[in-house]
This record gives sequence, structure tokens and C-alpha cells, in this order.
Amino acid sequence: MIACWGGKILGVGPRDAIETGLEANGYPLSRFVRIDADGGVVTPGLVDPHTHLLFAGSRERELVLRQRGAGYMEILAAGGGILSTVAATRAADAEQLAAHGRRWLDEMLRHGVTTIEAKSGYGLDLQTELRLLQVAFELGKEGPVDVVPTFLGAHAVPQEYRARPDGTEAYVRSVIEEQLPGVAAQGRARSCDVFCEEGVFTASQTRRILQAAAAYGMAMRLHADELAPSGGAELAAELGAISADHLHVPSDEGLAAMAESAGGPTPTVATLLPATTWFLMTDAAPARRFIDAGVPVALGTDFNPGTSPTPNLPLVMTVACLEMKMSPAEVLAAVTINAAFAAGVGADAGSLEPGKNADLVIWRATDVGQLPYWVGADLVDTVVKRGHVVYRRGG
Ligand SMILES: [Zn+2]
Repeated sequence: MIACWGGKILGVGPRDAIETGLEANGYPLSRFVRIDADGGVVTPGLVDPHTHLLFAGSRERELVLRQRGAGYMEILAAGGGILSTVAATRAADAEQLAAHGRRWLDEMLRHGVTTIEAKSGYGLDLQTELRLLQVAFELGKEGPVDVVPTFLGAHAVPQEYRARPDGTEAYVRSVIEEQLPGVAAQGRARSCDVFCEEGVFTASQTRRILQAAAAYGMAMRLHADELAPSGGAELAAELGAISADHLHVPSDEGLAAMAESAGGPTPTVATLLPATTWFLMTDAAPARRFIDAGVPVALGTDFNPGTSPTPNLPLVMTVACLEMKMSPAEVLAAVTINAAFAAGVGADAGSLEPGKNADLVIWRATDVGQLPYWVGADLVDTVVKRGHVVYRRGG
């Protein structure tokens, strides 16, 4: 039995012991609402620690281009890819972005997700970045899914800077000197992210941006070593980033640095995104090497219009088992407790412990091993958020 009160978990254990404890502490048993899991598995509400929730438009045409062999950089160089999403997103007002966000948050909830991290990064100018962060914040307040906003102004170099010979460096200065102060004054972003990658932002540019963000009190995270070893994993460990994400091709040194950080007081979580490599038809991250080295591994959808258009975290659990040889127990930890720490909410979410938020999922499965096993199935029976039923299958 799991007892919850005031939106928090009070106790977890055998029914008799829990009820005796509640009575002894003066809780009115008659006022508790009983929910019968009917033999189904109960897990913490899932946490998606890496999403690009808010954007406008869709990019289904690129699927066909990629089937013909076009790569991410090739699509980007052709003016497609992320820049087409930036143009559409700049043109969308807050109401349109909120409607889009609500639609996909509802999909995530139906897949058992009760908390997500949501990055900006399709504005690439102060005004649009602030709009994205504000909408993400308001959607979280509206609930039921908690939304943790992240500032990702350094997601790509926008079109208007690309013609300049010093374009990337000039944009980095604009992120540090113009966007970050505005974002800090707005006070919505809990962390700052940078796309540290060959041909995008170098490790040294990433370091400058993240250190500037840290000075404003934001946590650090980065897109690291997605397309080529770019010093991202090393940098994440060195800076004490809460998460290094993607890590498809980390260097041996980067992996070792993250393993060393795992032994320290503030481990950098390796947030792996196997739906992205699956959708891009490329090799997945070396999850086993991270796990065997003692690095905490989280899993996210990377929900975005170009490289991972899926809101389905349980599907990502399946892909992680198949493509990265993670065990069902490892993938469960990776979408709950490890994901909560990667999202910066480890103290409040991600496990069934007294004092944490009463975020629970009842599954139509009798063993957690069935969650990744029934591929693509809709297994969620009931979702509880802060003690309230917020989704019931067929309800
Ligand atoms: Zn991403």
C-alpha cells in the first residue's frame, strides 16, 4: 500500500502496517480515497528529462530525405532542419504555442509521464526565447504535468548570423550578453543547455555560456557528443553539469570523466535518447559502457519535430532495451529516479518514498518487465499527480 496525504507520499509498505501507522499518527483513515491497483504494477510517475516541447510546424518531409541518405548537417546546411522550425516558431504567438504544448503534454500524461523538462531553443532571439520559457512555465502551473523550463538559446546559430564571417562567435556573445540577462531577469528557466557539437558550438564556447548561466544561478546541462566526440562529456563532468545528453559517440576520456564525477557528490547523469538514434537510423549511445562504469543513466524522449517526434517514454524504454541492451530494471530507473535527478527534481520526484510528491502510475501489467516488453502498447491504467487521479483509462 502507498499512503498519500497533502499531495505527498506518507508511507509505502504492507497495508496493515501502513494503516496502523496512520492511525497512530492521527490521520483520519475514513478521509483517504482508496484506489485499487487490481494486481497492476505501480511505479513512480515517469519523468522525461529531455524534451523540446514547444515549437511550431512539423518536418515529416525530412524523414524521406534521410531515407535517401541525407544527414542532420546536410539538411541543416540546406536551410531545412532546425532553422525551418525556428522560422515557424518565431511566427507563432503564445496562445498557439500553449495549444501545441497542451496537446503533447496530454499525450505524455497518457503514457505515464508526470514531470518533464522542456527546453526553449527554437527562438534563437531574446523575445521568442522568453515567450517559449513563459509558455512552458505557465503550462506547468496549469498542470497536471510538471514542466521544468530550460533555456537553450545556444541550440543553433540563427540565419541572421550565418552570413557573417564571425557568425558563431557573434551569436555566442549575444547569448551571453543579451539573452542570458533577459532570461535570468524573467526567472523562468531553471537550467541552461548548449548544443556542444562539432560545427555548432565548441566546448570552449559552451563553457563560456554555461559559466555565465551558472553565475545567474541556473543549473548546467548540455547536448554532448551527439554526432562526433566534441569534448562534451569531459566538459559536463568538469563543470558539474546535472546532465550530459545524447552521448552517442563520447570519447574514452569523456566517459572516464563522467565515471569519476559519478563517485563525487554531484554526479552528472548521462541522459540517453535512443528514440533519436532509432529515428535517425544511426547507432545508439554506448549505454552499457556508462552503466558498467557506474555512471547514472537516464532516458528521455528528446521530443522534437526533427529528430525524435515521439511523446512516448514507455516506447523509449523498449528501444533502450533493444538498441542499447539495457535491462528492464535499468530502464525503469532511467525514466524515474535517474531522470528526476537529470531534470533537477530528484528531491521531489522519481521514487516512491515518504516526503516525495505523490506521483504514481498504475499499469495494466503484473510485472515491471512487461513495460518495455509489450512494444508500443497502451499500458497505463491510472495516473496520480500530487495525490489526485489525473488520468484514468477510458475515463
Ligand atoms: Zn535535444
